[in-house]
Amino acid sequence: MNSYDSLLKQAEMQLESLAKLSSVKEEPLEVILDKHGINRRDFLKWAASITAMLALPAQFTPLVADAVKLADRLPLVWIHLAECTGCSESLIRTDSPTIDSLIFDYVSLEYHETLMAAAGWQAEENLENAIKNYAGRYILLVEGGVPTAMNGQYLTVGAHARTGLELIHHAASSAAAIFSIGTCASFGGIQAAAPNPTGAKGVDKVISNPVINIPGCPPSSKNIVGTLVYFILFGTLPAIDVYSRPKWAYGQRIHDKCERRSHFDAGEFVESFGDEGAKEGWCLYKQGCKGPYTFNNCSVERFNQHTNWPIGAGHGCMGCSEPDFWDAMGPLEKPIDAHLVMGLNATVDQIGTTLLTATAIGIGAHAVASLFASKSKEEDDE
Ligand code: SF4
Ligand code: SF4
Repeated sequence: MNSYDSLLKQAEMQLESLAKLSSVKEEPLEVILDKHGINRRDFLKWAASITAMLALPAQFTPLVADAVKLADRLPLVWIHLAECTGCSESLIRTDSPTIDSLIFDYVSLEYHETLMAAAGWQAEENLENAIKNYAGRYILLVEGGVPTAMNGQYLTVGAHARTGLELIHHAASSAAAIFSIGTCASFGGIQAAAPNPTGAKGVDKVISNPVINIPGCPPSSKNIVGTLVYFILFGTLPAIDVYSRPKWAYGQRIHDKCERRSHFDAGEFVESFGDEGAKEGWCLYKQGCKGPYTFNNCSVERFNQHTNWPIGAGHGCMGCSEPDFWDAMGPLEKPIDAHLVMGLNATVDQIGTTLLTATAIGIGAHAVASLFASKSKEEDDE
């Protein structure tokens, strides 16, 4: 049996066992989608795109569609720690709901402070009930970093003033899987920027359970939904990189799939926002683009229903899905000269943790040469 056949078998068995659990929604997914003008054909097209995004062959498309229809069988508990709620907002506050956001209306969301009606004691009770009733079954989604200084006292939540540190230990203890949503939960985020007075850390630094990181500021809804669908479909987490990010989403550099890449290689750079190069769509490296140091799928999946992405709109990548990007990628609109070294085809696993802490980074020698060639030309012109 080849590896795809065994994956197919694994998915079929997983979906069979999920189908035996009772549904928590009164209306099936198809009805919810229909109410928002999304027909079966649109849904199957979406399922095919998710299948391709997860790097699965097309024969998995009907299974992906079935997995999403069974999403209400898996309870979700979403907790907020030190953060701005931007990750939740970007997922749920869309003008016209997409299938990605509607799935969050359909899943069995047992606890989410921004969305639930309950408050105070009642909210705490809801959380305790979800943890107790679904022990070993629920997916824990965490938004926000964990302040650890002063024994976690920089963040207290709820009527019992439980610290974020206590809360994450408690909620993680019975979870089937833990997703860190966004850069704050994955790596500490802006709270962890120097001098990090609250001792903020990513979730995987404070608990011993396995955690999958879905960083971004905010993360793409596709990366959240894709990881969720993968877990529903196979009952396991996808392959991860050295920073615990799913490889299907964060396996490639922004720079390697960027539509402006030919201009980088040709040494054609935007010298200031609004200049002729900007109008021509030239490379934004000199305007501080951090695409060469950043692993994410923004260039392929884009945002706002695939309409555009930051580099397409004329601003460089800020490197928001990398650890410590607030410190390591600054200043945001200037290049990091210290990072100009070789290794064009390096992957994050090869570069590893030296990516942001040392000078190793992948920009091809020819491209560096072209960058400096264009610099000398400017100097000659002056
Ligand atoms: S430096 Fe930025 S704009 Fe230029 S090719 Fe790389 S990712 Fe694209
Ligand atoms: S283009 Fe860069 S800064 Fe923007 S969302 Fe993607 S990884 Fe983050």
